[in-house]
Amino acid sequence: MRVTTAFNKMLGLVGVSVATVAFTPEGIVLGLRRRRAKHRCPCGWRTWAIYDRSVRRWRHLDLGASRCFLEAEIARIHCRSCGRVRTEEVPWARPGSRHSRDFQDVVAWLAQRVDKTTITKLLRVSWEAVAKIVIDVVAEAIDDARLNDLYRIGVDEVSYRKGHSYLTLVYDIAGGTVEYIADDRKQASLDPYFESFSPEERDTIRAVVMDMWEPYVNSVKAHLNHAEEKIVFDKFHIVKHMGEALDTVRKSEHRQLRAEGIDTLTGSKYLWLYAEKNLPGKHKSTFAVLKALNLKTARAWATKESLSCCGATGDWPGRPSSTSSASSGPRTRACNRSSTSPT
Ligand SMILES: [Zn+2]
Repeated sequence: MRVTTAFNKMLGLVGVSVATVAFTPEGIVLGLRRRRAKHRCPCGWRTWAIYDRSVRRWRHLDLGASRCFLEAEIARIHCRSCGRVRTEEVPWARPGSRHSRDFQDVVAWLAQRVDKTTITKLLRVSWEAVAKIVIDVVAEAIDDARLNDLYRIGVDEVSYRKGHSYLTLVYDIAGGTVEYIADDRKQASLDPYFESFSPEERDTIRAVVMDMWEPYVNSVKAHLNHAEEKIVFDKFHIVKHMGEALDTVRKSEHRQLRAEGIDTLTGSKYLWLYAEKNLPGKHKSTFAVLKALNLKTARAWATKESLSCCGATGDWPGRPSSTSSASSGPRTRACNRSSTSPT
């Protein structure tokens, strides 16, 4: 069997065949030859005419210990539908990507299951590449009818690189699907999400659940009518902020008491931070005495407790009829699609 035939069988790419195989210091480079067909614009328009052409390389899934690249000629065409020169679409890669579709699908599949550091090490790609791939794959999976049933959305930030970099995520709460991902956590990260909809479409959004993060609040206010009524700060974050506020009150009161020679609050830090129902039995009597004292800390604690018992999740701004079952947290629609195992 010829080596090119072997690679053709192994890769199983559609519409192309492997014409050359080169073993280079960077890895195995497979030169692709495409079957004769019209050049296709990403918008769907097709033509035989070429504006210009060049050779491009795409990172593909590793072959054993070697990196693998696909190399092919790619044309730019003057698309009459788009009214401008665009790079043609190829079957093995998404438009604009320097990674093959198979490679991207594996990254997106892994991104659902392991942390990004693991992906960068396993697949030998950069952080930036992983972030871009997830964005590309999700963008492809999102269809234009996505707002038809979108009443409640959640906005959240995810940190990576030990909290030095962020992504902004918008998800559909009822469907449990990620609808949008962007770099960073600025107002400019969220704005394009709302701007991809018409004002009428935006009016169908009834609630936006989020952390108390000013850039997100500003973005919602800039794009939704009656934004104040639609923003819901989620319970998890409120309780977290309350916990921090409580600790600040305790520290300051402790300092004050110590100055008067009273050490009632010494060693009590963690007792106040427990939710009352989770307080270990051995601390219960000590804590009962503490909270009965006339302390600012005890009043701050009572406020925190009253918040954590009444969930923000119970009283949504009205969603018409059927509340489709809450799924077990956000999943990307993209990864439901590419549920093929990478093994
Ligand atoms: Zn076009």
